[in-house]
Amino acid sequence: MRKNIVAGNWKMNNDLAQTETLITALKGQTISSDAEVMVAPPFTNLWAAYNALKGSDIEVAAQNMHFAENGAYTGEVSASMLKSVGITTVILGHSERRAYFNETDEILAKKVDAALAKDMRVIFCFGEELADRKSDNHETVVGDQIKNALFHLDAAAFKNIVLAYEPVWAIGTGETASPEQAQDMHAFIRKTLADKYGAEVADSVSILYGGSVKPNNAKEIFSKPDVDGGLIGGAALNAEDFFAIVNAF
Ligand code: PEP
Repeated sequence: MRKNIVAGNWKMNNDLAQTETLITALKGQTISSDAEVMVAPPFTNLWAAYNALKGSDIEVAAQNMHFAENGAYTGEVSASMLKSVGITTVILGHSERRAYFNETDEILAKKVDAALAKDMRVIFCFGEELADRKSDNHETVVGDQIKNALFHLDAAAFKNIVLAYEPVWAIGTGETASPEQAQDMHAFIRKTLADKYGAEVADSVSILYGGSVKPNNAKEIFSKPDVDGGLIGGAALNAEDFFAIVNAF
């Protein structure tokens, strides 16, 4: 059966000292749900976070990686480099990477392949813009994002894929998809997977919702049958808020 997961995306927040402070606060919280918990600090703090959280119930993930193994890619980090500091899960395709760093479906397909080739788990993000939803094109956009970056994979690869539906209009805006909008889209995503890979694969993949999830709305969103957790931005920077969301399951 698929897992419930709550992952905190710290984005470009927290230097080393702030990372240590937040991790100490996170370790002081109690997990009272069955959700798997992860945090994704910036690259410079991965090693410190990994060591500080080793042996705890909180995993450390990366926010991005390059598809190449090594070479002349100034400023980039590879899957092997992440693994060398203990990281085995990577977020790929976040809408900020797509919008500000020109990450296309084609680039993301290569990144997914590179991560899976190193036995990493991928949290693959996608989601429509406000204009897509207003023009009732959101399912087509999301379906294409999934197909273009993932549908070259074989069914077995999906044991290392987590999907994160993040409508761009809800990220960092305080605007959340309603629980019904989230459920409708998650059901569509699962059907898209089922049509290609069969119901068994579709039912085994965790689909997270991301977009202004907060302690006061998490429970309702997570109560939906096809919502298997959340990718949390702003609220992940506060240990109590983050754990209120984790414990909303
Ligand atoms: C995100 O960046 O993945 C996100 C969902 O951010 P926020 O929770 O702040 O909307």
